[in-house]
Amino acid sequence: MAAPWRDVVRDAAAVREAAAVAVDAALLAGVLMRTGEQPHASDVVNYAPFTLLPSAVPRALFEQAYAVQQDFNLLVDAISQNKEFLEQTLASTIKVDDFTAQLFRIYMQVLEEGLAQTVFLGINRSDYMFDCGLDGTAALRQIEINTIAASFGGLTSRTADVHRLVLKVLGKTEEASHLLPNNPAKGLALGIAKAWELYGSQRAVVMFLVEEIQRNIFDQRCVENELWNRNIRVIRKRFRDVFEQGSLDAGRRLYVDGQEVAVVYYREGYVPQNYDQQNWEARLLLERSRAVKCPDIATQLAGTKKVQQELSRPGTLEKLLPSRPEAVARIRATFAGLYSLDEGEEGDRMAATAIADPDRFVLKPQREGGGNNLYGEELRQVLEKIKDSPERTSYILMDKIKPQPALNYLLRAHSPLQVSECISELGIFGVYVRQGQELVLNQAAGHLLRTKAIEHADGGVAAGVAVLDTPYLV
Ligand code: ADP
Ligand code: MG
Repeated sequence: MAAPWRDVVRDAAAVREAAAVAVDAALLAGVLMRTGEQPHASDVVNYAPFTLLPSAVPRALFEQAYAVQQDFNLLVDAISQNKEFLEQTLASTIKVDDFTAQLFRIYMQVLEEGLAQTVFLGINRSDYMFDCGLDGTAALRQIEINTIAASFGGLTSRTADVHRLVLKVLGKTEEASHLLPNNPAKGLALGIAKAWELYGSQRAVVMFLVEEIQRNIFDQRCVENELWNRNIRVIRKRFRDVFEQGSLDAGRRLYVDGQEVAVVYYREGYVPQNYDQQNWEARLLLERSRAVKCPDIATQLAGTKKVQQELSRPGTLEKLLPSRPEAVARIRATFAGLYSLDEGEEGDRMAATAIADPDRFVLKPQREGGGNNLYGEELRQVLEKIKDSPERTSYILMDKIKPQPALNYLLRAHSPLQVSECISELGIFGVYVRQGQELVLNQAAGHLLRTKAIEHADGGVAAGVAVLDTPYLV
C-alpha cells in the first residue's frame, strides 16, 4: 500500500512539533477519555489515543466497504427474524458456551411469550482489514460485524479535524484538504430518533444502558447530545438500576425510575463479566418490554462468531436473502475463509490443519471486546489440548488476514513518541429501523479507522491496543 508520508515520518523535529499540536487539537476537539486512575468522574480526563498521521486506505476498498453496508444491515435484520436459522446454527455452541446459552434462553423465553416490541433498531459496525496478496494487491476482508455496543462513532467524528491540522503543520496543505468529513454519531442518533418517533410517545425517553466503569463516556455523549439537539430526553442507567427501578405495565411498557422508556441503547451487556443474576433478570425484563431494544436479543445473537462462520457456507446467504443475488455477491466478496470446529469429520480435519500450520489461522471463541482470540503457538497448544473434546465447538477458525504495514506514531498519554510499524482496521457503521415488516431506514452512517502496532495480534481501542485514526484515500 502507498506510504504517503515517507518524507516526514523520519523527520524527528517536525514530528515532535506536529505531535504537540496534535495532542492539543485532540483535547480541544473533544477526543477524550476518562483516565484509568479516575474512571468514575470527569474531573481529570485525557485524550483518547490516536495516530499522528492519517493512514493510507485504498479508495476502491473503502468504497466497496460503504457499498456493502446496506446489504449487511439487511442480512443482520433477516437473521434476527429467522428462528430456525439461529436455532440450528447455535445448537452446538450453546451446549458448551454458557454465555451464548444464557442469551439464547432469554431469546426463546421472549419468543414464547410473544414479542411486545414492534419497532426494531439496528446499529452495527462491520470491521475489515486489507489483506495483502502475493502480488501486492490488497483485498477487503471482513473481520467481524458488531451488532451490540459498537463504539467510537462519537470520538471518531472529531479525528479528521485533528489530522487535517497535523497535515497542515507538516506542510501537507493540499493533502489535508482531501480528508473526508465523517460523523457517525449523527447517523446513529438519526436511527435512535427514528425509532423513538415510531414508538410514539412524546414523553418517553431514550435509555443508554451503560457500564459500571464508564471510561468511554465522551464517545457516548456525542450520540446523546445529538438526541438532546432533537429535543429527545436521554437517561443513563446500569443493569443494576433497571433491576432496582424497572417495571412493566399491563401493556408491557417499560418504566425505569418513573419514566417511560421508548428506546434502550445498549453500551453494555456483550460479555459474561457484565452479568450477575440480577443483571440477567434486568436483561430479561428489558427484552420482554415493548421498548425498542438496540439491539434486541435476536440481533445480538446474529452477531456471534458462530453465526459469522455459518454464513460463509455455500448456500446460506442465498437462503437468508432470497431474491437478492446482487447483495449476496457483494457480501460474499468480503468474506475470509471461516471454518467450523464442530464435532465430526469437517471439524477434525480443520483442527488438524490448524495444528500443523497455526500461522495461517486465528482461533476465536464466542466473545466480544478484543483480547480473546488465539494466534500462532498459543493457538496450536490450545487446539492440541481440546481437539478431542466438545469444548472445541465453542470456537471457530478463521484465515488470518495479513495487511501490509506502514510507519506511523501512536500518540498515547504518558508514552514516548516513537515510530511503529502499524496495520489498520476499517469499520463502517450501519443503521436501520424496521416497523413490523417494513424497513423504514437503512443507511451507512460513517466510518471508523483503528490502527495498531503489528506486534499486537489482537485488541481494540478500549483494550488499550489500537488507536483512533483517519483514512487517507489513495
Ligand atoms: P472482538 O469481538 O474481540 O473484537 P474480532 O474478531 O474483532 O473480535 O478480533 C479482535 C481483533 O483481532 C481484531 O480487531 C483484529 O485486530 C484481530 N483479528 C481478528 N480476526 C483476524 C483475522 N482473521 N486476521 C487477522 N487479525 C484478526
Ligand atoms: Mg472486533
